Amino acid sequence: MAYDNENIFAKILRGEIPCDKVYESQHALAFNDIAPQAPVHVLVIPKGPYVSSDDFSANASEAEIAGFVRAVGDVARELGLADPGYRILANHGPDSGQEVSHFHIHIFGGQNLGRMIKPPEQ
Ligand code: AMP
Repeated sequence: MAYDNENIFAKILRGEIPCDKVYESQHALAFNDIAPQAPVHVLVIPKGPYVSSDDFSANASEAEIAGFVRAVGDVARELGLADPGYRILANHGPDSGQEVSHFHIHIFGGQNLGRMIKPPEQ
């Protein structure tokens, strides 16, 4: 899948639409999810044009990968989540229900999150 420069996170990175920023580094930007699914729900995105975790893991540079992984941990610590705990999640492709085609990691926290995932209702 080719990267779409008009996806909503690309527009946020270019400053064309606002976001509720919580963190920025050379390689990553983090902001609050617009439709939070937990008391804390933050998205961390790389600054480079990667469609998903699959694209990022295959094609990003070592520096981008290291910078991004560091950023995810930094964001969680800065939000005070390291001690109570949190969950990270990344969707890739149709079966995951990925909606925005710019790689992002969700950080969920602020409450007991239960066990993993629930299958869709039949
Ligand atoms: P995914 O289903 O993994 O692609 O997740 C996309 C996430 O982006 C969802 O949780 C949306 O609520 C969130 N989202 C969509 N548009 C925005 C926006 N403009 N600002 C912040 N979060 C957004």
